[in-house]
Amino acid sequence: MNDTGTGSASEAGRQRAARRDEAVRAAVEQGLLGPDTPIVGLLDVVGIKDSAAALRAAFDAVTAPGTPVLHAFAVKASPLVPVLRLLHGAGIGAEVASPGELALARAAGIAPDRTVLDSPAKTPGELREALSLGIAVNADNPQELDRIDALVGSTAPRSPIGIRVNPQVGGGSIGATSTATATSKFGVALRDEGAREWVTGAYADRPWLTRLHAHTGSQGIPLPLMARGVAETYALAEEINRRVGRRQIDTIDIGGGLPVNFASDETSPAYAQYARLLAETVPGLFDGRYGLVTEFGRSLLAKHGTVVARVEYTKRSGGRPIAVTHAGVQVATRTVYAPDSWPLRIAAYDAKGCPRSGPPTVQDIAGPACFSGDLLAEGRSLPLLEQGDYAAALDTGAYYFAHHYAYNSLLRPGIYGFAPAAPEATGGIRFAPVRTPQTLDEIVAESGGAHVGGLQDLYL
Ligand SMILES: *Cc1c(COP(=O)(O)O)cnc(C)c1O
Repeated sequence: MNDTGTGSASEAGRQRAARRDEAVRAAVEQGLLGPDTPIVGLLDVVGIKDSAAALRAAFDAVTAPGTPVLHAFAVKASPLVPVLRLLHGAGIGAEVASPGELALARAAGIAPDRTVLDSPAKTPGELREALSLGIAVNADNPQELDRIDALVGSTAPRSPIGIRVNPQVGGGSIGATSTATATSKFGVALRDEGAREWVTGAYADRPWLTRLHAHTGSQGIPLPLMARGVAETYALAEEINRRVGRRQIDTIDIGGGLPVNFASDETSPAYAQYARLLAETVPGLFDGRYGLVTEFGRSLLAKHGTVVARVEYTKRSGGRPIAVTHAGVQVATRTVYAPDSWPLRIAAYDAKGCPRSGPPTVQDIAGPACFSGDLLAEGRSLPLLEQGDYAAALDTGAYYFAHHYAYNSLLRPGIYGFAPAAPEATGGIRFAPVRTPQTLDEIVAESGGAHVGGLQDLYL
């Protein structure tokens, strides 16, 4: 290990790091990485399956036997069809928030009854499609509920339908990802004047409203605050059911948002820890009276992705060593634009893909884009990278290389899943393509290539 915030890693963390090191070496050996393919995204299939199993086990351990629990992966965290299919095979459904994400979930073979649609801006067409497929829908606001009313008419809808509320329990350390602030754009703001009464009345008027949804967690939110958001949502469900005099709300969707540790190979907090905290804070949620939906994204994928980029050049500027690599803003957009909120660990590998050793040297790891702030890491202490080495940005399996940003028309890198060649094998890694590298022809086509004369001819 030569990354920055090692700390004491558990056995699971050490094994994950060892798998990663092996995969980087194999990617170089097998030619997925090299002078002409200077950047690649790698996904650890064993790690993804382990996380899915840990999520299911954590909630199984605290729910009454027979409680229906749907873990719906937030597709936005890794919008890749083979990843959705892998998770589907591991018993995980999909939470989608756009027609594109719904199309990906369907392409992965995820059934409508294992899919949940949440989006703050659903068009009438999207709502109609979701209801005709029987996909669960959470209405974001009163205007959306009006649209759903019109579509539902007088018959009971096939889709389970709920309302998203914002318990306004407060934000975390990162403003852009805090969903439960007083003025968040999501859901019905529960503490606003008249809002609670409106929500309760909406359920009383619509016997088919059977779910309640809140998503208050995210990176930077402490677990107790997340648990408070869930507790307030549960209390509201109880209040509504008391008011209507029956168990109309039968399922509570507690959202996702478990934070991820980007500082070491440790998985913390663990799903088990969060599930236990929820069970202590909101015991009634787990006694079997309510079905549960969860929507975890980042925490299922982040630790299992690595973007590896070749060091094209090394140089010095103002005395500072700089490694100019092929990974920058196009694959690590959040880190480059908000480095203090989204720091990434960097691991140094030599030209053969073996961990580089050497005295720690303060250096910048720069990306390929043409603006000076395009830095994966600034002033980072690592073995000095040399030309032809590789720099790996760790924990980038969610919201990083799968979220390409088209700056400088940089090519979308290929993404490959990796696993040991055979279970228990002592050596050898196999790769499976998840997304093939973008081609220059595709760049031209996506950039209006078919309309080359369009502007010139518009006004002669
Ligand atoms: C983004 C999002 C999630 C997933 O959040 P993570 O932080 O990736 O776990 C879940 N539910 C909703 C409604 C979201 O918008």
